[in-house]
Amino acid sequence: MSNIVAIVGRPNVGKSTLFNRLVQRREAIVDSVSGVTRDRHYGKSDWNGKEFSVIDTGGYAVGSDDVFEEEIRKQVQLAIEEADIIIFVVDVEQGITPMDSEVAKLLRKVKKPILMAVNKVDNAMRDADAVEFYNLGLGDYFTISSINGSGTGELLDALAEKLEDAPEEKDELPRFAVVGRPNAGKSSFINALIGQERFVVTDIAGTTRDSIDTKYNRFGFDFNLVDTAGIRKKSKVKEDLEFYTVMRAVRAIEHCDVAILVLDATRGFEGQDENIFWLAEKNKKGIIILVNKWDLIEKETNTMRDFEAQVRKEIAPFTDVPILFISALTKQRIFKAIETAVEVFENRKKRIPTSKLNDTMLEIVKQYSPPAYKGKFVKIKYCMQLPTPTPQFVFFCNLPQYIRDPYKRFVENKLRELFDLKGVPIVIYFRQK
Ligand code: GDP
Ligand code: GDP
Repeated sequence: MSNIVAIVGRPNVGKSTLFNRLVQRREAIVDSVSGVTRDRHYGKSDWNGKEFSVIDTGGYAVGSDDVFEEEIRKQVQLAIEEADIIIFVVDVEQGITPMDSEVAKLLRKVKKPILMAVNKVDNAMRDADAVEFYNLGLGDYFTISSINGSGTGELLDALAEKLEDAPEEKDELPRFAVVGRPNAGKSSFINALIGQERFVVTDIAGTTRDSIDTKYNRFGFDFNLVDTAGIRKKSKVKEDLEFYTVMRAVRAIEHCDVAILVLDATRGFEGQDENIFWLAEKNKKGIIILVNKWDLIEKETNTMRDFEAQVRKEIAPFTDVPILFISALTKQRIFKAIETAVEVFENRKKRIPTSKLNDTMLEIVKQYSPPAYKGKFVKIKYCMQLPTPTPQFVFFCNLPQYIRDPYKRFVENKLRELFDLKGVPIVIYFRQK
């Protein structure tokens, strides 16, 4: 049901280097995704037409050597539980170390696909040295150089074979994922929503371990909730691992149409919240932000406005994301939250007729044409929305290569202003015509 790839291995084998290579490839193809990449541990990529999420487990280890080893063991364990496919990276320069053997031992018990990548094989001479990795008992391996890219194509071919095809967009109920840091109030929000009237109609097994997709009918809407709150409490793995939160969020977000990001008002919009936000944005999911525990805030005249302004600054240029101030405790505005999520769900399916788009947008781009670049004038002739599941637009012009980011942002802002795409990530392409 999803394609989550985790990169595991001990420190310094080249996990981050491989991760960057896998993710940049994607960014080179998509020329104009709104928003920016910030978090380096999570990325979206594709190969042979199949999309996948990549998670680099490397960046999360901290602490002294002892803690370090324990952390790595935990992360590998988590990757085993949470990912769909695992890339195990080892280092031909160092050969097999005790820690490699330990990780291999964990991986040998796993039923999921495991691809072993012997990294730093920068030249053919090192191919022979890689043979020793057969001793890890994981069978065949791929020799790669994450630095110069050799061998990574073969690795990706093998990976793509194991990936699932993108599910067909079905005319289904909205799927909302309630995501956020531990203690933000996700469970409380869900409980407040469904109260005693919990109608569990279907329990679709998200994985073999747990169901995460549950259908509800509430406030006159039918919707599925993709829950990340309840499951955590059952897991045997340490709850405080940031990595775990990310893993859960990745899966929940992949399974949703709209991500409901719950913040703790007493803590503000923090790094981890931002990561989850961009995660949803990169997956082109609808987003709403709920600032929860609003009952705990001493309200001065401008508290709400200031809080909102701070969040909007962080998420620019995607600034028309609905932000609601709620309390799961007092149930303040929780109905409004679901109503807003439904609106965003509808916005995400929006199709703007070509004539309407051209009538308005061509006028605007004529009036504010792209700045001349190297003495050349860029002329936009025509635009249309692509028949993609989420809003993507293409603008045909004479010299697309001279359109710069500020102008793309200007166009995005205008589209948002004119066509109410509130809460929906959009993609804009400029193409030669
Ligand atoms: P991580 O700790 O596993 O994430 O490892 P990094 O990606 O940070 O890489 C550790 C070191 O190995 C860095 O100095 C990289 O430049 C280097 N490195 C990574 N991949 C390769 C490679 O394919 N060949 C060589 N020669 N060095 C590499
Ligand atoms: P989760 O980890 O995101 O599922 O968070 P929980 O729903 O377990 O909530 C964490 C803590 O915050 C619990 O002690 C809740 O009672 C408390 N809490 C949740 N929502 C609110 C709220 O709106 N107001 C107040 N005052 N406390 C809340």
